Amino acid sequence: MESNSSKSNAVVVIGGGFGGLTTAFSLSNGKKRPPIILIEPRKRFVFLPLLYELLAGELETWEVAPSYKSLLASRGIIHIDQYVENIDLDKEIVITSNGEEIKYGKLVISTGSQPDSFGIPGVEEYALMFNQYQDVAKIKNLILSLNNSPNQNLFIVGAGPTGVELACKLADLIVQPIAINLVELGERVLPNVKSFNQEQAEQALRKKSVKVHLNTRVLKITREKLEFLSILQDQSKSLSMSHSGVIWTAGVKSSIPNGLPKNILKDRKILINSQLNVIGYDNVFAIGDISYDLGNPLFSTAQVAMQQGEHLGVNLRDFFDGKIVNRPFQFVDRGEMLSLGVGQATLTAMGLTMSGSLAFQIRRMAYLSKFPNLSLGVRSAGSWLCSHAKNLID
Ligand SMILES: Cc1cc2nc3c(=O)[nH]c(=O)nc-3n(C[C@H](O)[C@H](O)[C@H](O)COP(=O)(O)OP(=O)(O)OC[C@H]3O[C@@H](n4cnc5c(N)ncnc54)[C@H](O)[C@@H]3O)c2cc1C
Repeated sequence: MESNSSKSNAVVVIGGGFGGLTTAFSLSNGKKRPPIILIEPRKRFVFLPLLYELLAGELETWEVAPSYKSLLASRGIIHIDQYVENIDLDKEIVITSNGEEIKYGKLVISTGSQPDSFGIPGVEEYALMFNQYQDVAKIKNLILSLNNSPNQNLFIVGAGPTGVELACKLADLIVQPIAINLVELGERVLPNVKSFNQEQAEQALRKKSVKVHLNTRVLKITREKLEFLSILQDQSKSLSMSHSGVIWTAGVKSSIPNGLPKNILKDRKILINSQLNVIGYDNVFAIGDISYDLGNPLFSTAQVAMQQGEHLGVNLRDFFDGKIVNRPFQFVDRGEMLSLGVGQATLTAMGLTMSGSLAFQIRRMAYLSKFPNLSLGVRSAGSWLCSHAKNLID
């Protein structure tokens, strides 16, 4: 590593998720490439949209969560498997969890988001989450225990895409008569998705006998009970039900590294301009869930993070090739896909609107085709599908 006093031309990427990894890959394809350092504490990249397939055993760990070692080996990207504790934008250094100082020439922040308990008592202690590789084993254990003890209540809180996709998958995986309850504060499930997908999801939930509790606010979770309130009824009367498991998918908050000045933050996100630059810092960029362009607010999705990562990678490549770079980022909506149980999905994308098993195959192929180490078996099993599907999320 370089000392603080010397100038660095290294591009340091914090966070090896969708945004950070795409940037590092794209930059590594350049002709005059600088040193690229990826700081990411996890051993495995996790393709989150396929976490449900990993839970259901429809895909293997190496397909959904390949190790950074295998992904980065041939690309000359340095992986530091630590956590960034602090960023000092004035000194142009990041400080890692073991106290190492790394000087950057350009910095890319893509630290993503994490579940938000909103301070509701008991969520952190008693609810399971579903946003990382380790959560799959915990939920598999829960399925095992529910399959051994029928007539119980399972709660999933939050009926956004994660809650709905998980409810559908669990309804197929739990063979005993268990009540699967999906709790949502809003008046409809999936408030922000396309209407065809929303209707297909509502149908799937009905077919799988998932009990949907709309307009319902969770107040507290204990080891045995879930306390909630119907917001349309008498607000002073809370109800409680016993549970044998709660999965929390009700919201996320950005993972902001320490040390950033307050004036570049808004609503726990980092303010950027249309070139993905952090406001006021020409050599610092933020992309993915952590970033916020006031002039062009976007949803927090893998699709946005990957497109931003690719755009930034190309701009950085041009910069190191000595070209003038000022291309603004423009998001292209490639459509939307949701998994709706084992072997089932719905999609609205590229002029296609479909649900069922073919939609499941296309969704799976669209995501798997994004992997550089995709198995030849999967590729050859559906190469026509693969080439079409790839366009959906590129
Ligand atoms: C279960 C699930 C399913 C999803 N399905 C879809 C879907 O179908 N389609 C879709 O478009 N989106 C989906 N999403 C959302 C999507 O995964 C996120 O929007 C996307 O991951 C954001 O990319 P990112 O690069 O901003 O962050 P991430 O991909 O979350 O990556 C952030 C990385 O930063 C690392 N990190 C955090 N803090 C630090 C630090 N201080 N130092 C070093 N490293 C750090 C983390 O370990 C992590 O690896 C899903 C999310 C979940 C949880």
